[in-house]
Amino acid sequence: MKEPFISLETLEDICQDYPTPFHLYDEKGIREKARALNKAFSWNPGFKEYFAVKATPTPAILKILQEENCGVDCATEVELMMSKELGFKDIMFSSNNTPAHEYQYAKSIGATINLDAYEQITFLEEVIDLPDRLSLRYNPGGVFALGTEIMDHPQDSKFGMTKAQLYRGLSELKEKGVSSLGIHSFLASNTVTNDYYPELAKELFQLAVDIKNDLGISLDFINLSGGIGVNYRPEEVANDIAIIGQGVKKVYDAILAENGLDHIALYTELGRFMLAPHGHLITKVLHRKETYKKYVGVDASAVNLLRPAMYGSYHHITNLSNPEGSIEVVDVVGSLCENNDKFAKDRSLPQARPNDLLVIHDTGAHGFSMGYQYNGRLRSAEILLQENGQARLIRRAEVAEDYFATIRGYDF
Ligand SMILES: *Cc1c(COP(=O)(O)O)cnc(C)c1O
Repeated sequence: MKEPFISLETLEDICQDYPTPFHLYDEKGIREKARALNKAFSWNPGFKEYFAVKATPTPAILKILQEENCGVDCATEVELMMSKELGFKDIMFSSNNTPAHEYQYAKSIGATINLDAYEQITFLEEVIDLPDRLSLRYNPGGVFALGTEIMDHPQDSKFGMTKAQLYRGLSELKEKGVSSLGIHSFLASNTVTNDYYPELAKELFQLAVDIKNDLGISLDFINLSGGIGVNYRPEEVANDIAIIGQGVKKVYDAILAENGLDHIALYTELGRFMLAPHGHLITKVLHRKETYKKYVGVDASAVNLLRPAMYGSYHHITNLSNPEGSIEVVDVVGSLCENNDKFAKDRSLPQARPNDLLVIHDTGAHGFSMGYQYNGRLRSAEILLQENGQARLIRRAEVAEDYFATIRGYDF
């Protein structure tokens, strides 16, 4: 079973102060997750998690992660600006198809640039002096398979460079005096298995040994990036980061340490794994409707959580107000004029009555951040359930004037 991190009583109190819908985050869970990750990799002295800002670009959340010794991974100038303003020192810039001014800004704030394309080396030299430290993003092509269940197709991915380009790039950068070099690779998304990182690490560690032997270049860091997933479905088993850390250590010892490369620091750029389970989208039932199916209409919509509409993703739903209600099969829908605006289809749920509070689970990453304003439905508030049990508003809900702000002053 999936249990909400909030009780009905506490949630009703919060709803006295803040109208639904809103995203709610669990500070305690976030801190525990960050500590578990850092502990799992504490055997690697240079280890650093660069939290993927795009998953949850919310300053109060980023600040918690900073206090837990995490850095940030950014993909755009705006994400870099937010990270700079929050005082982050450890910043990775894993962008792609990047405009010149974003490289210039990244360099000016001391971010480590992770180059997505071999062709960008020349471009980078044109727009900035090469920094002392650079990372190159590797795409091995082909199909990446883990057992039978999990598979991804790096050959179809726009990210990264081929092995030949990686070799050429590293040699050229070394020749041009870049003293600290690293590699990065992201081969599969939302993996619910403890084997993904160890398998990826094995490939990258062997590559690091080959790079040492073939090019005489000793890498300083290897970035395992994101991709560790979460158990969105109640029947799935959550990944165990302690087991994952030990799995990576095993291949680190066998491959890197064996070849005299045990100075290499490991980095991660986890987003989903760090935050998804520690966020709920809280929404209230507005109406019921029955035609060829039964519908439960709620006050959130796909603008607050796009994943079900965009990817058909499963998000578990708990009716906190009526957990013992008789089970019925319903579609849970928002109010957009789009038929894909459904949080659940044909879902068995305890009867949902108008004004019942529903918890939509695992929305702490790629939830609020993928929001938009279609139909003039606005972005919701974000609220932090602090460790002391108090709720704190960390982002206000948008109001109509926010929506109109970019068109005020223009001639209609
Ligand atoms: C999206 C992204 C991540 C985070 O991925 P998760 O699946 O949320 O862990 C990390 N690194 C890069 C470069 C990304 O684009």
